[in-house]
Amino acid sequence: MALKAPSFLADAMLGSVARKLRIFGFDTLYIAHAHDDEILKMGIDQGRAILTADKELFKRVVKAGARGVLVSGAGDLEDLVHILSKSGVTSVDLGGIGSRCSVCNGLLEEKNQEQLKNGVPGKVAEQHREFYQCMDCGKVYWEGGHLRRIRALAESVDAKLGRAVAT
Ligand SMILES: [Zn+2]
Repeated sequence: MALKAPSFLADAMLGSVARKLRIFGFDTLYIAHAHDDEILKMGIDQGRAILTADKELFKRVVKAGARGVLVSGAGDLEDLVHILSKSGVTSVDLGGIGSRCSVCNGLLEEKNQEQLKNGVPGKVAEQHREFYQCMDCGKVYWEGGHLRRIRALAESVDAKLGRAVAT
């Protein structure tokens, strides 16, 4: 990526979008329990764009001169396209998918079966060769149906972003 990728701070209502942004490779914090004051302060201190579906909070974000995006909550595809285009992102780097943990935002590291030992169910270990483990929480990921669906979603987002820029 030529430009520095934006980082995000998602409020309690946006868990699903936050997980997807992480899987797309964007540094995204998700705050389930926090006062608007804390969210605002954290967004400003850490230079993160604040994502919220709360109009009152968004008004405060604008007033404080912080970066933020008002999310409609219409659905993951629409919301992701809206957030990324508002943040100056013109394409989703498909190579970055699976680089971050959807649970805790930690970075993933490639591992082989032997290195993981107990972390993978036997059936999965038989069928897959490549694994990724979160360096922070230890969650193990592998190429499977879930990641394929995410990739398809990323491609749809990417296609819509391309059109948003072209028109
Ligand atoms: Zn993790």
